[in-house]
Amino acid sequence: MNPIYLDNQATTPLAPEVLDAMLPWLKDGFGNPHSPHVMGRQAAAAVEVARDQVAALLPNGGRVIFTGSATEAINLAMGAARMLQGRNGIAIVDTEHAAVRDTALWYGTQGFETSLIPVDPQGLVLLEELEACLGPRTALVGAMLVNNEIGVVQPVDRITEMAHQAGALMLCDAVQGYGRIDIPQQADLIALSGHKIYGPKGIGALWVRDGIDVPPSIHGGGQEQGVRSGTLSPALCAGLGAAAKLCAERRQEDMQHIVSLAEKAHSLFGDWTVNGSLDQRYPGNLNIRRDGLDVARLMSDVRGVAFSAGSACASGSGRPSHVLAALGLQPAQIKSSIRLGFGRYNTVEEVERVAGLINQAAENQLS
Ligand code: PLP
Repeated sequence: MNPIYLDNQATTPLAPEVLDAMLPWLKDGFGNPHSPHVMGRQAAAAVEVARDQVAALLPNGGRVIFTGSATEAINLAMGAARMLQGRNGIAIVDTEHAAVRDTALWYGTQGFETSLIPVDPQGLVLLEELEACLGPRTALVGAMLVNNEIGVVQPVDRITEMAHQAGALMLCDAVQGYGRIDIPQQADLIALSGHKIYGPKGIGALWVRDGIDVPPSIHGGGQEQGVRSGTLSPALCAGLGAAAKLCAERRQEDMQHIVSLAEKAHSLFGDWTVNGSLDQRYPGNLNIRRDGLDVARLMSDVRGVAFSAGSACASGSGRPSHVLAALGLQPAQIKSSIRLGFGRYNTVEEVERVAGLINQAAENQLS
């Protein structure tokens, strides 16, 4: 039997409607979307429909570039910093995902000055620290919409205003918010990922505001407006497009459902402390801790539930969570934290069952 899946920040199941949208392009519609014949043109048309579906949830006045992942989209976006004469500063929030953080730190070894802007104990960026860091040499500011580990929603509109006042570009990693909450309309570069919105793995996208120069990240046949060469997969594009369309259509319904799951979970995990802001938070994320708990043991005791210790990426790498550390948590508190991620296909009964299993295992450990 499959475990109960409560790890929807790590990835989401494929929506049945998305699979249906993909299948024709994996079967008879196998033409190369860059071929001029009829099969190629049909595949290219499917790609353009998908592009419009993805763009419908993004600001006006920009273009969508398909990539292989959000990580690739973010790497592509950061290249824009290299095109700005006389500017070599990159400022990002300390709690960014590794896709932004490690890329920004790498730029720091390539002639850029990278600054990590601290957050308060709630996980919200310290705006006065950001202000102090910005200046005429800042090229790019990066802030994520919803934090993947703790669900905290950053004030991206305010951060964007500050970046623009300094003449810098604003990159928003919207991976955990796209399709679920409002997208910051003034950002210049926005990254998203298929597999976090009930779409397929292996596809992401970068939205680029018109007039912004993004240098190619992959050279070759000149696909994707010359910046990301390589044959596109019409099936993956159609899947991402269908997933975006479904999110748009179901947005209210999905949000109401997630809120009801979150409310149930908050009531059942009353003995735990929530990590990160309670009000500036996407409700589908519940990151909680119980002092004295050994989460590695908890996870092996509760095998019937797929959940995460901190972030899936951080746990995969064995690195302690830099996000929880940035909140000021001690190593022992970080090791006693778990993340539950609720999604469209979870039920209240599942949340009740999971709470029973996890609370029981925690009691057994702590008593
Ligand atoms: N940014 C955030 C906030 C994420 O949660 C993730 C995935 O965990 C990524 C970026 C990377 O996305 P992808 O798996 O598409 O590279």
